Amino acid sequence: MFKSAVYNLEEASPDKIQDFLNSFDTVLTDCDGVLWINNNSIPGSADAINYFRKLGKKIFYVTNNSTKIRSDFAVKAQQMGFIAEPEEILSTAYLVAHYLKGIGFTKKVYLIGSNGIGDELKAVGIRHIGIGPDPVKPDFKSMTTSDLDPEVGAVVVGFDEHVSYPKFMKAASYLAKEECLFIATNTDERFPKSSSIIIPGTGTLVRAVETCSERKALVLGKPNDYVRKFLESFGLNPARTLMIGDRCNTDIEFGVRCGFQTLLVLTGVTSVKDLERIRTERKQPLPDVVLPKLGDIIKLTAS
Ligand SMILES: [Mg+2]
Repeated sequence: MFKSAVYNLEEASPDKIQDFLNSFDTVLTDCDGVLWINNNSIPGSADAINYFRKLGKKIFYVTNNSTKIRSDFAVKAQQMGFIAEPEEILSTAYLVAHYLKGIGFTKKVYLIGSNGIGDELKAVGIRHIGIGPDPVKPDFKSMTTSDLDPEVGAVVVGFDEHVSYPKFMKAASYLAKEECLFIATNTDERFPKSSSIIIPGTGTLVRAVETCSERKALVLGKPNDYVRKFLESFGLNPARTLMIGDRCNTDIEFGVRCGFQTLLVLTGVTSVKDLERIRTERKQPLPDVVLPKLGDIIKLTAS
């Protein structure tokens, strides 16, 4: 594994940069905050990812976002200049469907989530209910078991802008049965901040369902290592894998747990100031190397 004598890649000698580039065969990259922010590409990121591919690295886009199917993610990436195939997109919506299919799940899913997960479930032949508004009625506490679908065998929680009290009631009631599975896409607290408005992330919903069901969800997204197990079945070698992310408590934590090398870029959630704090507090794992932005790698290889 590459051990950086120089923490900031910008300060590395050309030889060290070459050592770094030679030290991995597979690149896993987070998307929001590394490649783009919402619908705006981060300058230089596409060139960097396409350069890794030109060097023969395998590329996977690993995102906790559960609102899109893989082909839609691939199109978004392509429109911003990234070479990307649907098979290279490891989104949490896809992971949920792949996981349930893998364990031979045949019942119905109660979904707090959106069409991204719904369509991925449909693609593997798993039925689901729950998408869309479920508004609060004046007599909401009079919900009975007849409001529950007896075929439901799993509750899945992802991002759902229509989240409501009745949805929590239903999720917790399904989960009262011990055999009902409880799966969550991710536990991100918030979306990357682009203004003074805070946008609560999926973790907000997952924690709510965990609280009222008195159960713990199986979380498939980062920082959990399900992606590593998934990729190991395709021959992934963790020691020769680089994880790129913008967030220490998901991306870098994930990389460290999986035994990957880690590169933090400062174009998203974790700032220079945060990094200093993390370095002092030592409560979160630190990345192996840091770059102000991913596109800087091109400039460094040219020098
Ligand atoms: Mg991110």
